[in-house]
Amino acid sequence: MVNTKEIMEKDAMYLAAVYKKKPIVIVEGSGAVVRDSDGKEYIDCLSGISVTNAGHSPERLVKAGSEQLKRLIHCSGLYYSIPQTLLAEKLAGVAPKHLRKSFFCNSGAEAVEGAVKLAKKYAASQGRSGSGLIALEGSFHGRLGLSLTLTGQAKYKKGFGNFANYPGIAHAPAPYCYRCPLSYPSCGMECARKVEDIIKYHTSGDVAALIAEPIMGEGGIIVPPDGYHTEVQKICRDHNILYIADEVQTGFGRCGVMFAHELFKIEPDLMTMAKGIGGGLPIGGVICTDEVAGCLESGDHFSTFGGNPVCCAVALENISLLLEEGLVENSKNLGRKVLSSLMELKEKYSIIGQARGRGLMIGLELVKDDQRKVPACDETQELAKFMMKHGVIVGTGGVLGNVIRIQPPLCINQDQATRVLEVIENGIKKL
Ligand code: PMP
Repeated sequence: MVNTKEIMEKDAMYLAAVYKKKPIVIVEGSGAVVRDSDGKEYIDCLSGISVTNAGHSPERLVKAGSEQLKRLIHCSGLYYSIPQTLLAEKLAGVAPKHLRKSFFCNSGAEAVEGAVKLAKKYAASQGRSGSGLIALEGSFHGRLGLSLTLTGQAKYKKGFGNFANYPGIAHAPAPYCYRCPLSYPSCGMECARKVEDIIKYHTSGDVAALIAEPIMGEGGIIVPPDGYHTEVQKICRDHNILYIADEVQTGFGRCGVMFAHELFKIEPDLMTMAKGIGGGLPIGGVICTDEVAGCLESGDHFSTFGGNPVCCAVALENISLLLEEGLVENSKNLGRKVLSSLMELKEKYSIIGQARGRGLMIGLELVKDDQRKVPACDETQELAKFMMKHGVIVGTGGVLGNVIRIQPPLCINQDQATRVLEVIENGIKKL
């Protein structure tokens, strides 16, 4: 029997407090449910931050991982490796056709930095400086030096000086219609058009890449208006700027399609992946066009653990599972139902400013009143706390800290979803 108090005390004693943890010790999980050290069950509506898309510890992944563990745990990228090659082949099969060549790393931030490095090399191979990079305000791309600079939210950068201030990076406005003073579509999508100005006034004019999340995750599940990404991609093409879709959070069925950029009918030159690719094992990657990959020379990039055989074997099985067991479809269909129930709740309770999302990537923005849209941050925390007490784990986030994030494993069923909605409504009534 695990002693909950003892674990928490040891954690305080021996772990650097980089993040304040919620007061439960999660010890096991199965499907969409996790259990804590006191035996209490929770419907997990955060999936370890959009990671366990196939559910917790599914038998198929456990088997694929244990078989590979017994065969070979590590070999490094100096040699050919079967799981790594097969995973790259699989990705080329599930990603849009023009994306074909991958490399693997260990996390989302590494994937982002790797993609940017590749874009810079591509610019250099054309004899350009490619000194500029563009990201979006309100975005999240990781917490390393470059990725933290790309991240468009001061709250993650405070206290890190130059580590969060990499040169050459400019930010364009987020397509955050709910909080935009203009209204869509009469706005003419000023947020997308602004990218032109950013290139002209805030960069050297020679920009290697623009990076954007198809749907902004940490920023508060911000879904851009139709046409936004196409317009931005057009501007990028006009200026010879590569478009990087950061699908670290939105990928692998999360938004009801394999990759969220498919919803917006764009063709990114590079796509980053992590979180949902490995079913919970630490693996990230970048997939790009043959043309972009063609600029690489041996030794340009490397990661000791990147493409680890166990992670790749599990990721390979994970992608098959997501497709064969209809989880991407479930994300689309159940996600639609959950969102429409939340929209009905919005009509009943003025604290809900907006319910939005795609598939099982849903956000509920809470406001003190519907007119002034003052963010209801304390209430957001209270609601999440209430839900945890009643057996449902949700995330909180958003640029203003007032968004409840609902991102369950894609195997969540109708009964579990109904229970989640009940708990949300009870929590909101209490607020
Ligand atoms: N990009 C996006 C879109 C993300 O959501 C995240 C993580 N929240 C990252 C990059 C960074 O991923 P990691 O924490 O694995 O470094």
